Amino acid sequence: MSNPVPFDDRDGYIWFDGKIVPWREATIHVLNHGLHYGSCVFEGERVYHGKVFKLNEHTERLHRSANLLGFALPFSVEALNRATEEIVQKQNIVDGYVRPVAWRGSEQMAILTTHSRIHVAIACWTWPAYYTDEAKRKGAKLTIEKHWKRPAPDTAPTASKAAGLYMIGTITKNQAHAGGFQEALMTDWRGYIAETTSSNFFLVIGGELHTPIPDCFLDGITRRTVMELARKRGIKVVERHITLDELSTAQEAFMTGTAAEVTPVGSIDALTFTVGPVTTALMDDYAKLVAE
Ligand code: PMP
Repeated sequence: MSNPVPFDDRDGYIWFDGKIVPWREATIHVLNHGLHYGSCVFEGERVYHGKVFKLNEHTERLHRSANLLGFALPFSVEALNRATEEIVQKQNIVDGYVRPVAWRGSEQMAILTTHSRIHVAIACWTWPAYYTDEAKRKGAKLTIEKHWKRPAPDTAPTASKAAGLYMIGTITKNQAHAGGFQEALMTDWRGYIAETTSSNFFLVIGGELHTPIPDCFLDGITRRTVMELARKRGIKVVERHITLDELSTAQEAFMTGTAAEVTPVGSIDALTFTVGPVTTALMDDYAKLVAE
């Protein structure tokens, strides 16, 4: 996605540590624990018709993500929900994206963080779809990441939406992009299918929905929403460990995420999938739900 206007040079406002400040003034010092040591967690939320979808779930996850990194946010879930609504309104966002972020500050430049202060900011902007209409119609082109794995849950705080975990996704996504793919499917440290660089992954096998157990990657809010929508339609949902060999047994595949919504997968390397009835039905159900 091309983005001609850099994110540090825009008009508007950002909620920053309890205050609304002009966009260009929402800055931090280069000596910052979040930047140097990855003490940073964030959220990605979507605004539909002026309202943040599943706001409370996202804010609760931000709190949990911080706790998993050993810090507590200095604002309650309720306060951050209100702050989000305030900045979305101030920015006049009708359909857009919200990025809350929390990090350890500049008090200490060492691993130990006994005196670190926690900072929180919430930015939002008008945003088009993450994948193009063509990707949504024909299905996205994926490749299997062969080198990088989702780490074991005792080697990284894998349940946290921690900025540090995205270094793996960024290397992987850049490689996939350079190879002409829109996304990469990642396996975990055991070799099971995990997720893509920024979305959860589903297969349709014989009319049933199969998705990996989120025991070492993010259990997405969209993932849980889509599983609920499927169950409402009477579609059986199976959470289990899935191997790469099983990809060839699936008729349909799709990705879910706040940004991706429900995006069909057209191919994974040489394997092709149809944008079939289950994916289409869940895309429609999801679109209806967010429009409510
Ligand atoms: N996995 C990763 C690595 C992600 O970045 C995201 C997007 N937040 C997801 C899964 C999907 O999560 P959600 O549905 O909560 O947006």
